[in-house]
Amino acid sequence: MERTLSIVKPDGVKKGLIGEVISRFEKAGLKVVALKMVKLSKDQAMGFYIVHKDKPFYNGLTDFMSEGPIVVMVIEGEQAISKVREIMGATNPKEAAPGTIRADFASDIERNIVHGSDSKESADYEIGYFFSSLEINSSIN
Ligand code: UDP
Ligand code: MG
Repeated sequence: MERTLSIVKPDGVKKGLIGEVISRFEKAGLKVVALKMVKLSKDQAMGFYIVHKDKPFYNGLTDFMSEGPIVVMVIEGEQAISKVREIMGATNPKEAAPGTIRADFASDIERNIVHGSDSKESADYEIGYFFSSLEINSSIN
C-alpha cells in the first residue's frame, strides 16, 4: 500500500472538474483517505513547489497555484503514486496519452488541472505539507 498527494489545481476547480478527477481515481480502485479545499498564498505555493525553485517556470507556476482555491487529497492504494501519475498523463497535455485527465482537460503545460506526487519522498513531504496524521483516515498505520 502507498499514499500519494493529489491536487485539483485552480484551473480544475474553475472548470468544475473536482468530481471528475476524484471519480477517475476511485474507478481505478484508489481510495481518498483525506481531502480539503484551500486557497494557497503565493508563499505557501512557493513552499509546496520548493523543489522547482530554480526552474524558469517557478514564478508563473506559483502565481497560478495561488490564484484560486484548490482541492488537496491523500490517495491510497497499491502503487498509488504511479497509478495517479498514469491517470493524470504527462505534464504537457500535448504529450499526454489519450484518455488521461491532462489530455482530456488541460489547456497548456502550466494549467494542467491536476498534481500527483512523483516519488515516495515527495509524497511524504507533500502530504505533510497539507495534512496532519490525525486527518488521514488510512487503513495502514
Ligand atoms: N510546469 C510549467 N512549465 C514547465 C513544466 C512544468 O508551468 O515547463 C508546471 C506544471 O503546472 C507542472 C508543475 O509546473 O504540473 C510541476 O512541474 P513537474 O515537472 O513537477 O510536472 P508534474 O510532476 O506536475 O507532471
Ligand atoms: Mg512534479
